[in-house]
Amino acid sequence: MKYDLIVVGGGPGGLMAAKTAAEDGLKVVLIERKKNIAEITRACLSVFYIRKVTASPEVEEGKTHADGYIEPVSVELLPDKCRFHFPGPGFSLDYDGSYAPYYHWIDMSPSGYLIHRHKPNDKIWALFYDKEVFLAGLLSLAQKAGAEVLPETIGMGAENTPDGVKVRVRGKSGEQTLEARTAIAADGVSSIIVDSLGLNKDRKVMTPVVKILAYEIEGVETNLPPFSFLWISIPSLSPMPFGLGIAGMDRVLLFTMLSGTLSPTAVMDNFMKHPNFAPWFRNARIVKKTAAGADVGLRTPIREPVAGNVVIVGDAGAPVETWIQGALACGYMGVKAIEKELNGQKGYPEYIDWWQKAFAFNDPHYWKIATVYPLNQICTDEELDYIYSLFQGRVGCAMGLIEKNLELIKKGRPELYERLIKTKPPEAGS
Ligand SMILES: Cc1cc2nc3c(=O)[nH]c(=O)nc-3n(C[C@H](O)[C@H](O)[C@H](O)COP(=O)(O)OP(=O)(O)OC[C@H]3O[C@@H](n4cnc5c(N)ncnc54)[C@H](O)[C@@H]3O)c2cc1C
Repeated sequence: MKYDLIVVGGGPGGLMAAKTAAEDGLKVVLIERKKNIAEITRACLSVFYIRKVTASPEVEEGKTHADGYIEPVSVELLPDKCRFHFPGPGFSLDYDGSYAPYYHWIDMSPSGYLIHRHKPNDKIWALFYDKEVFLAGLLSLAQKAGAEVLPETIGMGAENTPDGVKVRVRGKSGEQTLEARTAIAADGVSSIIVDSLGLNKDRKVMTPVVKILAYEIEGVETNLPPFSFLWISIPSLSPMPFGLGIAGMDRVLLFTMLSGTLSPTAVMDNFMKHPNFAPWFRNARIVKKTAAGADVGLRTPIREPVAGNVVIVGDAGAPVETWIQGALACGYMGVKAIEKELNGQKGYPEYIDWWQKAFAFNDPHYWKIATVYPLNQICTDEELDYIYSLFQGRVGCAMGLIEKNLELIKKGRPELYERLIKTKPPEAGS
């Protein structure tokens, strides 16, 4: 066979897989549909989480609720670069692009009541960094190590054969079938490869289709501290909170997530014109727009992300996101599993076991906090202000605080309490 491994998708998961495999001496080809592989076209907030994270709704001080990767990750800030350490899988990666710290993570109600997820002015909980520079670095390392890279090539489907895998691809010169001993599906959420292998059949759809729109904006003037990340909930404008990342004062990221027929552009527009927030955007200029979405709503994760000779990594097997860190860890762990199998050892069961423990979405608690108390859909603007006013100055996340203090809400607003407790989480299933 010409290849040991075909990697479909050149995001963080696929690039890490190609780099790891090539450095370990495997014959690897990476196919990616984009022309410029490192270019980010799908919305991403470029937050690199470095606080301890947890899948539990009992948000403890010093821990961040996660929907992605929950193994510890740390960052070493060196004079000329950052070094990201992944002690679980056992690798480190250097990054020499720009970055800014995030100190504050704040939930905000329509009238400006604030709940801090960590003690204000405490330690850095994340870095804002340049994902394009980071991915370009990974691509360069993969190519230096000998990975063959085919841009502008789309993976159309994969099929297991007795001695390997066939992947149908379409490039500039037409369609062809690539063959290898193994393959990695790293083609992100709504993966074509996963679908072609029949792995979506047992996945439940948990939410309606979500559309995401993100703006990078210059000239935003808030009275909020710089280096803050906010979730701003305004039920009258959107069924989900707005995200606002203030990475220094010169660069702000604003994004919205929506389901249903609402137009993301109109919703963003309404937010920027809302009387409480319009002063922030008086002199603002949108410099970049990106979007994201899935072909169906949020699906439950793939329980066992290996099918024959194909290993699923990153978002291809997740409900929505593994995070960049999780995708990197998957790319590395997926290749290590493949190497074991190629040497006659049992690598795939180890990978499956690791996958089931390393991600919040595989923990039933995740589904509890992700699906219960969709506050914007239950409360009015005034009710949300009431709830946030109860917890103003407390440390935690709004949903976790509500969970712990339902009796307080029952006393103050019995009718609201009844509505809150009626929202039971659905069964996460397989
Ligand atoms: C709005 C939003 C904000 C986010 N913010 C953050 C954040 O701040 N921090 C964080 O850690 N994570 C964030 N994430 C999640 C993060 O972007 C993903 O978890 C991560 O990029 C997953 O990496 P991946 O390699 O699995 O998939 P992707 O990054 O999606 O990469 C998949 C690659 O495959 C290519 N591809 C797709 N289909 C094919 C095909 N058929 N053939 C060939 N190539 C194909 C795509 O072009 C893409 O390059 C965010 C996600 C969203 C939606």
